[in-house]
Amino acid sequence: MSAADKANSLAGDRDVIVIGAGPAGLSAALYLGRSRRQTLVVDAGEPRNAPAHSAHGVFSRDGATPAELVADARRQLERYPAVEVWRGKAETVEKGPSGFVVRTQDGRQARARRLLFATGIRDELPDIEGLAERWANGVLHCVYCHGYEIADQPVALIAAPDIAMRAVASVYQLTQNLVLCTNGEAMPEAEAGQLARRGIHVVEMKIDRISGDAPDLRLMFADGSELTRAAVFVRTILKDASDLPARLGCELDTPYGVVVGLDWQTSVPGAYAAGDIAAPKDQIIVAAASGAQAAIAINGDLVQADW
Ligand SMILES: Cc1cc2nc3c(=O)[nH]c(=O)nc-3n(C[C@H](O)[C@H](O)[C@H](O)COP(=O)(O)OP(=O)(O)OC[C@H]3O[C@@H](n4cnc5c(N)ncnc54)[C@H](O)[C@@H]3O)c2cc1C
Repeated sequence: MSAADKANSLAGDRDVIVIGAGPAGLSAALYLGRSRRQTLVVDAGEPRNAPAHSAHGVFSRDGATPAELVADARRQLERYPAVEVWRGKAETVEKGPSGFVVRTQDGRQARARRLLFATGIRDELPDIEGLAERWANGVLHCVYCHGYEIADQPVALIAAPDIAMRAVASVYQLTQNLVLCTNGEAMPEAEAGQLARRGIHVVEMKIDRISGDAPDLRLMFADGSELTRAAVFVRTILKDASDLPARLGCELDTPYGVVVGLDWQTSVPGAYAAGDIAAPKDQIIVAAASGAQAAIAINGDLVQADW
């Protein structure tokens, strides 16, 4: 198909629809707006780090709240008339001869020549009573996001033995006052010995529940014993926040995410992905950078199609 045919066959009401307005989607929208691309952003308003009090490691914005980061980015988008933002959940996405059609849960629909998934991922927590209520407030997952704040404090790491050693080393770099809780699983003797030599205590007893507030979190074990810690690190299971890429037929990555090429395009031509679902090292700055890269690729693709 020639470039002109391609442009015609995908011609739609807008140039691009971006699904998701976290760091990836908003960064992409900024680049697309500045490229004068008619862009619709559809966002359900549930970014992954919303429960956290502050965001760290973000270039020039270290310590801002997640809500501030998103609100400032949204405000800056208002300068660009080509960008429109809809609050709502995209429910279906289809690819037809005249582009991608997105329908929202509240019955609106839009069509565009290109599509960007920036829908993010979600964290599934270990099934321990009291853990979910303290998520991002004493119960932490990422040493780069919140490790500095708990440096040298008493910390517990909840991790199964098969993944524990790597995780222990990361947390130990920040605090040596560390207890590893395997939550009912036996730690192999060799590894337990290595940990003991570094003064890391291992508790294999099943955790019954967690109570109290950081920095006095109480881990209550099945045998009635207790441990008080300033913070608890957990390993979460990462899942896609949206099944729209799968339903559109995009090749999926394992254990989560979407396969993209160097240009951030998925296996469905014209559909791109950025942010946590497509970029490694799920961090705000990385998600935003991938959104910018995807937007540049999309604009370049449209420029060539229209040339
Ligand atoms: C508790 C916690 C704390 C964190 N702290 C930090 C930190 O301090 N520093 C750091 O660098 N990183 C941190 N992260 C990681 C950071 O949150 C992610 O890397 C970043 O949010 C990824 O951006 P994203 O745009 O890919 O996805 P998200 O920020 O998750 O945004 C995705 C958006 O897409 C929307 N969406 C999904 N499906 C649909 C749909 N069908 N229709 C419409 N909208 C949809 C969602 O509602 C959401 O608004 C933290 C993560 C967690 C869990």
